[in-house]
Amino acid sequence: MVYSERTDRLTPSATLAILGKIKELIKDGKKAISFGAGEPDFLTPEHIREAAIKAIRDGHMGSLPTAGLPELRGACAEYFCEKKGLHVEPSQVLISTGSKQTIMNAILTLVNKGDEVLLPAPAWVSFPEMVKLADANPVFVPTAEENGFKLKAEMLEPYITKKTKLLILNNPNNPTGSLMDRKDLMEIADLMVRNGIYVISDEIYDQLVYDGKSHTSIASLSPEIEGLTVTTNGFSKTYAMPGWRVGYGAAGAEIIRRMTAIQSHYTSGGNHVAQRAALAALKGKQDCVEEMRKSYFDRREYILKKLQRISGFSCTKPEAAFYVFPNVTELFGREIRGTRIGSSGDLANLLLDSIQVGIVSGSAFGTEGYVRLSYAVDIKEIEEGLDRVESLLGSELNSH
Ligand code: PMP
Repeated sequence: MVYSERTDRLTPSATLAILGKIKELIKDGKKAISFGAGEPDFLTPEHIREAAIKAIRDGHMGSLPTAGLPELRGACAEYFCEKKGLHVEPSQVLISTGSKQTIMNAILTLVNKGDEVLLPAPAWVSFPEMVKLADANPVFVPTAEENGFKLKAEMLEPYITKKTKLLILNNPNNPTGSLMDRKDLMEIADLMVRNGIYVISDEIYDQLVYDGKSHTSIASLSPEIEGLTVTTNGFSKTYAMPGWRVGYGAAGAEIIRRMTAIQSHYTSGGNHVAQRAALAALKGKQDCVEEMRKSYFDRREYILKKLQRISGFSCTKPEAAFYVFPNVTELFGREIRGTRIGSSGDLANLLLDSIQVGIVSGSAFGTEGYVRLSYAVDIKEIEEGLDRVESLLGSELNSH
């Protein structure tokens, strides 16, 4: 059989693969612990669940306009304007089936076959695959651990060619947890405006920021950069709603019109009940967001302290999201339980096979030498999982 070249080019999601293996281990009765998930371990707050139940009772079963529930588009526009400093009308907001779909709609709207798309690396696993699905070419732009994986304009500049059409920013970043500085964003915005390059700014972790820092939306920095930017966000992380599949984006009217046209043929638009729940999330009390943020903060403190004690792991302090991205190159070349560690993938496999602990290799995000651990995991599981890693790597390395 001959299938499409498009699907030949796709790489399956490394994060989902780890989760799949963990589930199999659990099914086999093993006590597996996963640091692989990129989603909150909290239940969706009760008032949001209640709003969904009410929506069902009230009979909200009909399909919505493709672009979304009008009240929700209004609430998202309000969020973008009041909290993020953007200038958007409700008509410039598109609600989608998770922000994944918002981002895919935007890529399909902005690039042609053979266009180049700048992807600061490490990059979330789906970005390069989405770019390839749109027949464009991902161009990885490395960032450096020395400055907390923060992207700077001078890092991007050498990668700009005549074919460069789009930059995909992910601020705060998955997998590094880095948060971009306003000054760096201003320089990047200038560079994009000078070269007429579009930007997708994926801001799904914007509410999970620590140490008194604040998040800046690149589109808020000037009318010129706002005109080139699609800003995307969603409910999965902030409100612990990954399975509800509601995301949203804002951009200039013509970009949104085209993104909506694509969506109208793919999914017809998002789930009605879930959109009513999302409306309750944005309009309701925000204490739940702060409670979850505080809990992630405590876990970050714990995981950073513990990682310092584990041989071969060294970790910069992430300022946002719920990931740590330690450097593990010190372990390369070592033999542990009969396995020679030559890459972050070898280390991830060793931890899974020998102590049933799931982590994701840095190579899955385009950056070798690191691994990603999510701390959207119950603190007891974090303790137990890292104890296992410490006894494996600590004791093995001490014998060298
Ligand atoms: N962007 C990033 C950086 C993510 O980590 C994720 C979820 N893993 C998404 C987008 C997709 O989120 P959603 O559930 O809104 O599709």
